[in-house]
This record gives sequence, C-alpha cells and structure tokens, in this order.
Amino acid sequence: MDDQTIWNRVVATADASYDRLSATARSRLDEHLSRIMQLKQDLYECSQAAGSSQICRECGGTCCLNGKFHVSVLDLLVYRSARVEPVVPHFENSPLCPYGGTAGCLMPPRFRSMTCLVFNCELVENRMDDREKERFAAGEHALRKAILGAEELLEYRAGRAVLLSGND
Ligand code: SF4
Ligand code: SF4
Repeated sequence: MDDQTIWNRVVATADASYDRLSATARSRLDEHLSRIMQLKQDLYECSQAAGSSQICRECGGTCCLNGKFHVSVLDLLVYRSARVEPVVPHFENSPLCPYGGTAGCLMPPRFRSMTCLVFNCELVENRMDDREKERFAAGEHALRKAILGAEELLEYRAGRAVLLSGND
C-alpha cells in the first residue's frame, strides 16, 4: 500500500472516529484536543525562546527526515475538531518530511505530531537554562497525559504513531 493510500485511510479513520461519538463524548474530546493544541503551542514557544528558529533553519531540519512516521489518528482528529482541512502531504519529497516545504513545516505548531514538539537536539537544549528545561519537561509530561486522556475517551491508542509505518 502506498503512502498516499495509507494517509487517506488515516484521515477516514479519524473522521469515522469523530463521527461515531455521542454529542457529549465529542464535546469532551474537543476539550482534550483543544488542551493538546495549547500544550503543543507552549512547547513550541519554549523551544523558540531557546533560539530554535535560527538553529533549526541553519541545520535544515535533520530531525524531520522521519517526519512521515510521526503522525497519528489523534493528530488528524485535531484538524477535524478545529474544523481545519488537514495538511496536504507530499510523499514524493521522500526522504524529506512530506509535511514540510521549502519554507519549513507546513503545519502550524499546534497541529504537529507530539514527536515534532517534544524533541530538541543538544544544539537547542544546550541553550536552555535549568528553569527552561524544567518548564519544557513539565509541558511534555502534561502533553503526554492529555493524549492519554483523549485515548481513554476514544477507547483506543489513537495517539500511537504507527499508521504510516507499514510502508517505506
Ligand atoms: S532540533 Fe536539532 S536536529 Fe532538529 S532541526 Fe533543530 S537543530 Fe536540527
Ligand atoms: S511535521 Fe513539520 S516539524 Fe514534524 S517532522 Fe515534518 S517538517 Fe518537521
């Protein structure tokens, strides 16, 4: 199965997951997803404060090379919940991340996969003082917890980043 077909299935799985929820459960999921988006934004800003914009631009996005494997159904549910059309992946760009372009990542930080937000290489991490590292670690912990909460509501591992790993 090619990447585009797998992607289409992930989008359909996310839509079906969302549609089958009761109004009450959907409202609770929306709250979880909204919190997840905010936590991702916070982590992004934490990295930005350490200078990640310039550092990552100079690096060229080495850690993004495996980006296609990071996406989960939960990430697509975030788009659905926010009523935003999902990013259009460019799998032909392999080995570059299909969700990136010449100007960088095509996804606003709050829509990116957890792995995209929680990883900082040493170049970025070494620019953080202890307080900033603690803030980042607390944000990662809160994000993982919020994802678990959403999975409990959905009753499956929607945050697991395995759905695009069956083909390479
Ligand atoms: S986090 Fe590190 S490896 Fe990843 S893009 Fe930034 S500088 Fe490069
Ligand atoms: S989605 Fe964006 S941040 Fe994540 S790996 Fe791809 S280009 Fe990098």
